[in-house]
Amino acid sequence: MNLILSNEGLIHETSYSDISFYSDQTVYEVIRVIDGVALFVEDHFLRLEISMQIQGLLIQMSYSDFKQNIAELVRLNQIMEGNVKFVYSVAKGNAHWAFRFIPHNYPIPENYQFGVTTDFLFAERQNPNAKVIQVGIRNLADQMIADRKLYEVLLVDRDGMITEGSRSNVFFVKSDVFYTAPDSMILVGITRKKVFDCLKELGYTIVEEAVSAKEVDDFDAVFLTGTSPKILPVISIGKRLFNVQNPAMVRLMDVYNQMIREYIRKEL
Ligand code: PMP
Repeated sequence: MNLILSNEGLIHETSYSDISFYSDQTVYEVIRVIDGVALFVEDHFLRLEISMQIQGLLIQMSYSDFKQNIAELVRLNQIMEGNVKFVYSVAKGNAHWAFRFIPHNYPIPENYQFGVTTDFLFAERQNPNAKVIQVGIRNLADQMIADRKLYEVLLVDRDGMITEGSRSNVFFVKSDVFYTAPDSMILVGITRKKVFDCLKELGYTIVEEAVSAKEVDDFDAVFLTGTSPKILPVISIGKRLFNVQNPAMVRLMDVYNQMIREYIRKEL
């Protein structure tokens, strides 16, 4: 049984109508739960505040209530692994919010070992800093992913620069230097932020500059970051192939997983 915690109280999944993506004034957050612990809740709350502001909405929930609601949902549904999705939407003049458990199809171990396939999609998210679904782009991306049997598409803007994935951020690696598009061009991923911390700890250089779609051949390795995939090596962008065993990237993946273990240990 999946219980949903909402502004109307506790609701059973069966009697809940998900209006979330049918309004353009919808913001959301997806929070990873591992071993019954919700990860990086404060970072998600801070981003939620930014998304709400961009959409002209005011959040009427404190950080401590946000955190408590997530913990309550995890307890009620006895979640050990999965995602908690928070949705705030305005539809027909009414504000509505809900926390719900989303069992997720995470990448399989082979995806981490052999990498995933991608290609370019020429599209730009509006107000990229807000975590809102832009239905047009999302549908286009999902269609391309399904038709071409890809894992993800990389968005390329009008200047030919690669910004991010349709639901992930993207990094490029060359000689132990890590390149990723700046905050202003993307949804500022929580995973990306944590990857920055790990890279600093490892002493690698981060360059916050978008890579041109024409320049991808210059790079040794590419990876995606996101709440669900964590750090996922990319084997291909179209016909171009990349090294999924790049030592700096593999070290980063280890350090990231250690960082998560440490976070969970502290929260338990
Ligand atoms: N960019 C976009 C467009 C996304 O939808 C996501 C997934 N939320 C991300 C980046 C990655 O963000 P996060 O690491 O917070 O999941």
